[in-house]
Amino acid sequence: PGRASEAAFLVISLLMFRCCRPVLRRKAGILPSLEDLLFYTIAEGQEKIPAHKFTTALKATGLRTGDPRLKECMEMLKVTLKTTSDGALDRHLFKKCVQSNIVLLTQAFRKKFVIPDFQPFCAHMDELYDNAKNLSGGQVADYIPQLARFSPDLWAVALCTVDGQRHTVGDTKVPFCLQSCVKPLKYAIAVHDHGTEYVHRFIGKEPSGLRFNKLFLNEDDKPHNPMVNAGAIVCTSLIKVMNFMNKLAGNEYVGFSNATFQSERESGDRNFAIGYYLKEKKCFPEGTDMTAILDFYFQLCSIEVTCESASVMAATLANGGFCPITGERVLSPEAVRNTLSLMHSCGMYDFSGQFAFHVGLPAKSGVAGGILLVVPNVMGVMCWSPPLDKLGNSVRGIQFCTDLVSLFNFHNYDNLRHFAKKLDPRREGGDQRVKSVINLLFAAYTGDVSALRRFALSSMDMEQRDYDSRTALHVAAAEGHAEVVRFLLEACKVNPVPRDRWGNTPMDEAVHFGHHDVVTILRDYHTQYSPQETAANKENADDIYLSM
Ligand code: GLU
Repeated sequence: PGRASEAAFLVISLLMFRCCRPVLRRKAGILPSLEDLLFYTIAEGQEKIPAHKFTTALKATGLRTGDPRLKECMEMLKVTLKTTSDGALDRHLFKKCVQSNIVLLTQAFRKKFVIPDFQPFCAHMDELYDNAKNLSGGQVADYIPQLARFSPDLWAVALCTVDGQRHTVGDTKVPFCLQSCVKPLKYAIAVHDHGTEYVHRFIGKEPSGLRFNKLFLNEDDKPHNPMVNAGAIVCTSLIKVMNFMNKLAGNEYVGFSNATFQSERESGDRNFAIGYYLKEKKCFPEGTDMTAILDFYFQLCSIEVTCESASVMAATLANGGFCPITGERVLSPEAVRNTLSLMHSCGMYDFSGQFAFHVGLPAKSGVAGGILLVVPNVMGVMCWSPPLDKLGNSVRGIQFCTDLVSLFNFHNYDNLRHFAKKLDPRREGGDQRVKSVINLLFAAYTGDVSALRRFALSSMDMEQRDYDSRTALHVAAAEGHAEVVRFLLEACKVNPVPRDRWGNTPMDEAVHFGHHDVVTILRDYHTQYSPQETAANKENADDIYLSM
């Protein structure tokens, strides 16, 4: 269905240029609106769209019906459906439902999201999930009863892209505690609130090379970094507000396990020892109540998330601090960049160096079995499975992360151009030729000369025609884009007198719409024009253009 609707959309997009009397047509109100184009795309030739067909098509793009960005659309859909007898939407009703969120919806159906072909990508994710599911090694943490009670079979992966495309597989709705996965979040909040310089007056930036809960400071008597307990405890003394967590998760599930908090406090002798040591070494800002900070530290460890909600948190980090599903700016770019850097070097306990080497992505694990993984500019992932390896990382989670970068070119140092053995889900699939006609005509239509230059430079055929034999020159002439017309004629040496299906030339268009400047440019070419000459010129078009 994805392919079919994509094909339908391409056809519809082509229709836009069909007779290309846009000014008149727009005035007459017959130029198709985005809502109409979307209707034709989803309806696939039918008169009406059944509601379930719409939601199914929507989900295939990765959007959820519960996405806060689609609230108006979904509410209107609910109301509208009550007025229909058959639960289907005609063009008029459809328009009513989608118009408030048309920009996002158009983006989704034109495959403009970061993972354009989302369904095949999800199928790969499910395979990776299944592959790790069979692993049986590892131990569930048992130092507190709240962790010991988890079944070793629990296993979940959730992802959220920077465009808010969602996919989940496994036990993604079971709450668990962030534990150490909260460390990068509170560090990010501290930097967001106080800036890098202030935060790092108290905490270093270097991997410690020691276990996360070691009672040890660096040569300046500071904790090594904010991802180990000492650094995280100091970091706790720098932050105040909790509503950040809700914002990071786009208001999805964030809870608190009071029982875990109590247990952590009761069993937290090592953290108390670290606290007193930090206090002795004057590691906290002046006036800090160390025991209150320790309580806050244990509370932060006890924040509950689900795999789903945590994937949104990770996606906010992947998206430069903007929550993808609310659009809200939660963290400064500086805070996010710092955080990702330190997750990359220090996020995976004593496996951090190896993880950076093999996986090459920022991540942070926690004792509850979570791994918060970030693919910067692409997506956030939360993996969760309680059994831990000897270094304290989720066994299945590590397997998943490793497999992920073997399949896709997500490793920070994968070359995006030449490493053909790995998949790049960011790349657009589909019929490139049809797309290139659309891109070409669309650029001509909007007067986007710089896009046209790029196309010409990448040796696109600038004389391509749509199925009505319209060329970029026709479209630009009809729209009165003199600069585009000049570029096409002078730089690209396109045929100045192509005839479309109705026999019209670009000159006819320019005259018809009264674009006198375009008429003047075209006239020069018309008088010079002879077919042989143009064909000969065209062979040199690339060279001439490149030398401009
Ligand atoms: N509550 C644990 C501690 O501070 C967190 C452990 C972890 O997730 O690394 O010791």
